[in-house]
Amino acid sequence: MSEPTPILPTSVPARRSLQARVRWGERLVTIGGDAPVRIQSMTNTDTVDVIETAIQVKELAVAGSELVRITVNTPEAAAAVPHIREQLDRMGIDVPLVGDFHYNGHRLLNEFPAMAAALSKYRINPGNVGKGDKKDKQFAQMIEAAMRHDVPVRIGVNWGSLDQELLAGLMDENGRRAQPWGTQSVMYQALIDSALQSAAYAVELGMAPEQVIISCKVSGVQDLIAVYRELNRRTNHPLHLGLTEAGMSTKGTVASATALAILLQEGIGDTIRVSLTPQPGEARTQEVVVASEILQSLGFRTFNPSVTACPGCGRTTSTTFQELAKQIDDFLRAQMPVWRAKYPGVEAMKVAVMGCIVNGPGESKHADIGISLPGTGEAPAAPVFIDGEKALTLRGEGIAREFQALVENYIEKRFGSAPSTA
Ligand code: SF4
Repeated sequence: MSEPTPILPTSVPARRSLQARVRWGERLVTIGGDAPVRIQSMTNTDTVDVIETAIQVKELAVAGSELVRITVNTPEAAAAVPHIREQLDRMGIDVPLVGDFHYNGHRLLNEFPAMAAALSKYRINPGNVGKGDKKDKQFAQMIEAAMRHDVPVRIGVNWGSLDQELLAGLMDENGRRAQPWGTQSVMYQALIDSALQSAAYAVELGMAPEQVIISCKVSGVQDLIAVYRELNRRTNHPLHLGLTEAGMSTKGTVASATALAILLQEGIGDTIRVSLTPQPGEARTQEVVVASEILQSLGFRTFNPSVTACPGCGRTTSTTFQELAKQIDDFLRAQMPVWRAKYPGVEAMKVAVMGCIVNGPGESKHADIGISLPGTGEAPAAPVFIDGEKALTLRGEGIAREFQALVENYIEKRFGSAPSTA
């Protein structure tokens, strides 16, 4: 019998893109190459409302967004941008701002130089730059503004606003083929050609290739995978990845996670956005939470301590373990903005909250600190495991409170004095 070969863990795949540099003040955010996959988000406030927009940018940045995009759609919005930047600087928020331009970006970037200087990156949609002979001229004006202010651009194609002239040309060409392609394949080609032709023109105008980031957003998971695999094959510009109009809540989260995870695991994608439609009353920061969970689940980056909890089953009919898992998770997330600086390494910590003796002790031993709550019919005792060893047993009504205190003590002891390598 042949010797079995070891089953090796999968690793974070290497990416092959160039590396863009996005700056604000002392803050440098690299995108592509060996940089970590970055998280982006976008405000949904009226940019004219300086305070409201600055507050939402701050919330997104604190949640973990490394670049925040704002709409710049009118002269009033353009005039507000430098004030938003000032407000953020006053609040100590140095997240780079990205301007989102459609139709009139060429004019706004030239007429509002303070806005052009306050932004750290411009998003240009080639489908919305202009028609006919105006298109190249207006695109060139935006690229020249980017070079003047030394900022990168994202050529952001979206199939909801695809360049119709380009698409019509490709459809005609397809009609002349002996065996015409399916409409979907022509659409994919139009998306990719639009992005690559615009990127090539930006480089021809003098942009450094690494400062030209590309995205081709679609709303179907299989479409996104097909388009980005081909994009990745054809270019080494940094790639921004995201499912456009992903949808609300569970649907949007699952669709984004599915599409992004498949591509990221293939080494495709240098920066991501999860375009969730917020449910009424839901925080805009949810899209950042989902994006960070995708990267953390893949093992690409570590943002927050993870709480492992069992799903529960007929062996535990009480909701205690669910409540405790949520309480600990909420508590850890709420503390992270402060803890990140105070307790270096704490983001890699693992906490387990388990519902019964079947997997409870085992899973808790694998965590840094874990608790196995008593299932139905088990003795009312909850053993706590610290660094793989049983440390003590909690009993009675105060288990949740006492366990949270143990977690806090553990963090203070382990991460409080010296930086950890965990
Ligand atoms: S640990 Fe116990 S309660 Fe939780 S899912 Fe497994 S068997 Fe069910």
